[in-house]
This record gives sequence, C-alpha cells and structure tokens, in this order.
Amino acid sequence: MKDLASRLEARLDDLRDRIVALAEVNSGSFNPDGVARVGERLSDLVAELQPDSIETLGVDPTPVLSPDGQKTEETVGPCFRAIKRPDAPVRICLFGHLDTVFPSDHPFQDVKVDGWRLNGPGVADCKGGLVIATEVLRYLESTQWGQNVGWEFLAVSEEEVGSYGSKKLLRDAALVADFGFGFEPALPSGGVAGARKGSVTGHLVVHGLAAHAGRAHHEGRSSILALSNLIVRLEALNAEPGVTVNCGRISGGGPLNVVPDLAVGSFNMRVETPADQSFVESQFTAAASESELDVDLVWGSTRPPKVRTPELQRMLDSLTESAEELGIDVPVEDTGGCCDGNDLAAAGLPNVDSLGIRGGAIHSANEFAFVDSVPERVALVTNMIAKVAQ
Ligand SMILES: [Zn+2]
Repeated sequence: MKDLASRLEARLDDLRDRIVALAEVNSGSFNPDGVARVGERLSDLVAELQPDSIETLGVDPTPVLSPDGQKTEETVGPCFRAIKRPDAPVRICLFGHLDTVFPSDHPFQDVKVDGWRLNGPGVADCKGGLVIATEVLRYLESTQWGQNVGWEFLAVSEEEVGSYGSKKLLRDAALVADFGFGFEPALPSGGVAGARKGSVTGHLVVHGLAAHAGRAHHEGRSSILALSNLIVRLEALNAEPGVTVNCGRISGGGPLNVVPDLAVGSFNMRVETPADQSFVESQFTAAASESELDVDLVWGSTRPPKVRTPELQRMLDSLTESAEELGIDVPVEDTGGCCDGNDLAAAGLPNVDSLGIRGGAIHSANEFAFVDSVPERVALVTNMIAKVAQ
C-alpha cells in the first residue's frame, strides 16, 4: 500500500484539479441544477472505472416548514449511483454526498488554492472525499483480489438536509452490501467517527389568539409566551444524560401592538441510543399536548443513533490495524454529529463513515482541505477493504 501512496503523490496536481472541479460548482442542497452538474462531473470520473451501470436517480423533494408554520417542500437534485460486479462474493458500498450547506446566494463560492491547501465550499465536506472514493475504486480495479469485490458508489443529493428522499436508496444499498465505507471528512484530529449520536428535528407551531395589545390585551392569548414556556420546559431536558435539545430558530408575532397569534419554534435534538430518542419524542408530544394553547408538533428529518455494534467494532479494529501498518495515526472518536452512516447502520450495514479528506472548519467559509492527505487516506481505505474482503 506504501507504493500506492507514492504513486498518488506523483498525481497530486491531478487530484487537486479533480477536487476543485467538483467544488467550483455550487451544489447547495436546494440548488438541484448545481447538484446535477456535480453529479455529471463525478460520473465522468467514475466512468474511467468502467462500472456495469452509472445512474442518475431523482428523489422526492424535502419537506420544510416555513417561518409562518406552513408545510412546504423544496426540490432537490438527483443522486448518483454506480455499480460494478453486483454478483461478486463480497459487496461493499462507498458513500458520500453531492450537496453542500452553501446555497447559490451564499458569499462563499470560490475555491482558493494555496499549495496543497484548498479553501472552498465542500472541499472537505465532502467533495475531497468523493475523489478519494474514486481513487480507492481505481486501485481496487487494478488488483487481482479486487475482482472478488463488487461495489456500489452512492452519492446522495441532499445529505446536508437529512437525506429525506434518498433514504430508500440508502436502505437498498444496505440490503445488498456487506460493508460500508463513507467519505465524510476526517475528524479534525485526522481520526474517524466511531459511534454517532442520532438526530431528531421537530417544530412546535403554537396558535394563540390575536387582540389589540392596548384595548383588549386580556382577550388575547400570546403564542410567543406559550412557545417561550415550551422552550424552557424542553431545554431543561439537557440535564438528562445522553440527550441534547437545541431550539435553534423561532419566528412569529408581528405588529408590537397586537397579541401574537402565531409562533413557531424549531428544535434539533441529539440522542445516544434508540431509548433516548423515544424518550425525547415522548417529552415533545407531552409538552405540546399540555401547553395552554393549541400546538401542532411537526417532526422533521430524523437519523437514528449509530452505536458501536460488534460488527462496527470489527471494522474499526481493521481500520486501526490498517493505519498501524501504514505508520499513520488514525484515532477513532465518538461524535455528536450524524450522517448517512447512521441510516445505513440502522438498515443493517456496518460502516465506517469518515474516511474522507483531512481538513476542517466545515460548514463555514473557512472550510479547508489538504490535497496531500489524499494518498494516505486512499491507502488506508484500500488496506482496510483488502482485510475485510479477503
Ligand atoms: Zn457531509
């Protein structure tokens, strides 16, 4: 694997250009055209590997709740899927995503190149990872043992907003694959995620009664006051172990001389176990029904917790072994973040999901990635695949 890394060292210019080509196209989750273009560019790279099929798969729009509490939806771009040797004795799924958190009107659009350091939208999360996945497959295709490995490369179009429409594709992939390898960015330490918390999103739409604030305040019922009470009650759950509750957005009200008849609070919760998830959901249901006003509870995207099952632990052990053989340090850390690896694990596919590029400051305009980490990551993953596949 060490000569694989040195072969890739010699191709760093090309690898950098490939990442830049994916990152210079805006692919905010709700920019379907941009996502489609990134999918086309990825198709061009993967076509070099002569897969049996390359597909572009449209998925259902993502439900969203408007600031005035109306349920609407956003169109999303198509997912990318390539498959080779589906009847091979060992099947693996490589996964990542085409979208970024930066919409087309966000100021952060350009990729800056400074030696092997890139600063740009999605360079780490996860376009650098998509290039790593492609290089892993290229190497696999060049080996004898790789001919026993069937692969699916799935890049979904809306991971950053919960993979609502892609969940079926993820489930399908989990059903047929034996092992999953995800190309989300490496953790800042260069490590990979072990367990990941689950994520639950919920909105409380509180209906009050409008009244003139001066003449008839007593006839009104303030939705903002009731929502405030709900926020205080639910944020108190942060005292529970394994659970975090964050009310991240509020909206509602209007003219200051009117008792507000509508308020919306949007929450994201993180949970360590399925039991924590049921607990949090029941607390929200109870709080909504016990409020002094009418409250609609609208659930948003959910990802189940990813726990260290024996199957996942075996994969993590082979990762550690692979890293030691290559003489690199790749710590395994549990994290509160979540990704498609959570959904794949819940569908029964053991997977290590943060095998992508080294970098950091993801989801901010400082996002950066190191092109010269690509060779070591490709070597790490191929070494790991060789172990699990043989
Ligand atoms: Zn990501």
